[in-house]
Amino acid sequence: MKEIKSYNNYKVKTLFGRYITNNSIEKLLEEYDFNILGFSVKNLPIYSLSYGLGDVKILIWSQMHGNESTSTKALFDFLSYLESYGKELKSRIHLKIIPILNPDGAKAYTRENSNNIDLNRDAVDLSQPESKLLRNIYDEYNPDFCFNLHDQRTIYSLNNFNSSVISFLSPSADDIKSETNSRISSMQVISSVFEKMSTVIPGNIGRYSDDFNLNCVGDTFQSLETPTILFESGHLEEDYQREISRKYVCFSLIYAVNAILNTNIDYKTYYQIPENKKQLCDIKIINIKIKKDSSFERNNISLMYKEKLNLKEKKIEFIPELSQIGELNDINGHLLVDFLNIDKIFNLSTPSCIDEIIRYVNKLRNIH
Ligand SMILES: [Zn+2]
Repeated sequence: MKEIKSYNNYKVKTLFGRYITNNSIEKLLEEYDFNILGFSVKNLPIYSLSYGLGDVKILIWSQMHGNESTSTKALFDFLSYLESYGKELKSRIHLKIIPILNPDGAKAYTRENSNNIDLNRDAVDLSQPESKLLRNIYDEYNPDFCFNLHDQRTIYSLNNFNSSVISFLSPSADDIKSETNSRISSMQVISSVFEKMSTVIPGNIGRYSDDFNLNCVGDTFQSLETPTILFESGHLEEDYQREISRKYVCFSLIYAVNAILNTNIDYKTYYQIPENKKQLCDIKIINIKIKKDSSFERNNISLMYKEKLNLKEKKIEFIPELSQIGELNDINGHLLVDFLNIDKIFNLSTPSCIDEIIRYVNKLRNIH
């Protein structure tokens, strides 16, 4: 398992955190055979790189949602692994990689492109330059496989409120979710990755919803009979920089490529992967005294972080916001805090209340 043991040797340490833009990768691209495929709405270059000497062609793109940067980091780790340890793989595959399909969204830290269009709902209309570019490269390159790389929100959970640290999807090719040949090929590869990753993070691997939507790129490519796999980087505990799921996505990419070259695993294993649920919040606080009329009640609340770009420091800030109040038996927190011993009564209608709650959370956890 050299990919696991030597991860810190091949990890690309110049990439870190959530704010990954063209600027972050331009220096790295110079180590590879790269070119400019075209330009975004705001005229930023969209890069692609070619890698490998083999004839099994895999088209990979990341950050079609600009603020989903985890797998872009993982992609460069994956390439670095192939350079150091993957001579045989390199000789058998050929990769065409678009590390940041939506550079405007990456720069502004938005999901959509700068016309406010979700590129993953534009596969039929092809109304945006970024969507056209991806479709053109798909048509020209004629890949044997496609990897569509994303980040999923912190709400995604599995059994027992385990976090969905990584999830996969073999997108549907039609309304009735038929098991087409390309879907089955995708399921086979995912099944193999699932088995391998289950020895690394058992209980933290999920399956993403396979509701059909032809406007999604994966569904379109799958319907054109190219096996396509959606990778979703998720969240673990307090790793808001997503350096942990980055590592797991890297391993998954290595296992996926290996599986494409040689697997005959039963594709039905795919259906045994637990489906993602939405049962997590960022912080759950129980037994908090909340002001009610002239008195108070003890209740539970959930907080979710809003991600905000700090352009000056080129980093993402996480601003806690109130999400829900109530029993909240069906959700858990990545962080769970009990306010039973806090006597203070919090007035949720005052603007500074959440900041105050966070101060108490930090106090309870001895963080100052
Ligand atoms: Zn996405």
